[in-house]
Amino acid sequence: MKNVLHAKCVICGRTYDAAPNLTNCACGGILDIVYDYDSIKSSLSKADLAARQEYTIWRYRELLPVEAGTELPPLRVGWSPLYQADRLAGQLGIQRLYIKDDGINPTASLKDRASAMAVAKAREAGAEVIACSSTGNAASSLAGNAAAAGLKTYIFVPSRAPKGKVAQLMAFGATVISVQGSYEDTFELSKAAISRWGWYNRNAAINPYLSEGKKTVGLEIMEQLHWVVPDYIAISVGDGCTIAGLWKGLKDLYAIGFIDRLPRLISAQAEGCCPLNRAIETGEAWRPMEENTLADSIAVGVPRNADKALLAIRESNGLTVNVSDQEIMDAQKLLGRTCGVFGEPAGVTGTAGLKKLCEQGKIPASATAVSVVTGNGLKDVANAIASCGEPVSIPNDMDQLLKAFAERGITVE
Ligand SMILES: *Cc1c(COP(=O)(O)O)cnc(C)c1O
Repeated sequence: MKNVLHAKCVICGRTYDAAPNLTNCACGGILDIVYDYDSIKSSLSKADLAARQEYTIWRYRELLPVEAGTELPPLRVGWSPLYQADRLAGQLGIQRLYIKDDGINPTASLKDRASAMAVAKAREAGAEVIACSSTGNAASSLAGNAAAAGLKTYIFVPSRAPKGKVAQLMAFGATVISVQGSYEDTFELSKAAISRWGWYNRNAAINPYLSEGKKTVGLEIMEQLHWVVPDYIAISVGDGCTIAGLWKGLKDLYAIGFIDRLPRLISAQAEGCCPLNRAIETGEAWRPMEENTLADSIAVGVPRNADKALLAIRESNGLTVNVSDQEIMDAQKLLGRTCGVFGEPAGVTGTAGLKKLCEQGKIPASATAVSVVTGNGLKDVANAIASCGEPVSIPNDMDQLLKAFAERGITVE
């Protein structure tokens, strides 16, 4: 990997050769992949990128930790749309808003960015089996990306994982272990199983390559905005790998001179499970919390990427915001009705957070913001129906239709 120098512990600074099966530092800290930015600068220009026809995460190969000869996994991950959402911006009272819809990825969440990277690195490591624990999306994403590449998967999910995600797992042919316990229990069992059988580890808090995959969301946002930096980027936070990856991508672009400033991150968590935001808000070390939210993908009581996430929020002079389940479900409707974008609860939590900060007067009216929708609403239809209601149900009969309209006060023009 000609642009990668080494991996470096974010806690103690110890460095390691960037082998494909890297895990944590001896001190327990998470590793970060360090690049030779001078070399990247001399081999990549904005014009080079603009000329590329590869509309996937691999478009940014100079900034990614894969060997030149690695066979890349086949699913088309990344280059999700960035919609300019003028109506929603107007409702929030800000100058400009963009919605990055990562729910359009092949398995319908941002996690595909990390799973594609995991599959590439597993191939480099010569592994034939990959495993992970997940609240659901990392699981379905790994299962899909691995299936496409012909690799076998063992996947651990908490028993509360929504049916849509479990259905994906089963369809992709993963061996799925539904753990009767919290996400924390699920993670611990996966860790024990991985060490027992020596599978390739796709746990994002352990494998430092995964946030390198996720950072492509930041690279894309900036290229799609023609390198004009927004004031804020809002995103939902669970383990913390996603926000840390986003920040890494932005910092990479700053380091190679593609952007001239950095946005402030907005870290959105659920009120019922916000250990990272609480640490920022109180200035104390993070402490575990109960997993008390319907936004299952960010119901993470023991965040596994706390160090990288807290660094990202602090370095960006970021804002934290905690939203209730009601505010999350309201944001789901708002995005659906103003943008035609359907996000799962955790997927829309960034937008819910941005809305709340706007209402609290913490975002100036002149601001430009990006909100990342991290997962598709079809992942969790039960909560969407509970929140948005049931359709008008009648037999094939015009009189019944007129009656139903009248009963519901629906006026037809
Ligand atoms: C995983 C996930 C997140 C949060 O990512 P972390 O790395 O756990 O912070 C947010 N939204 C969705 C839909 C996810 O699947």
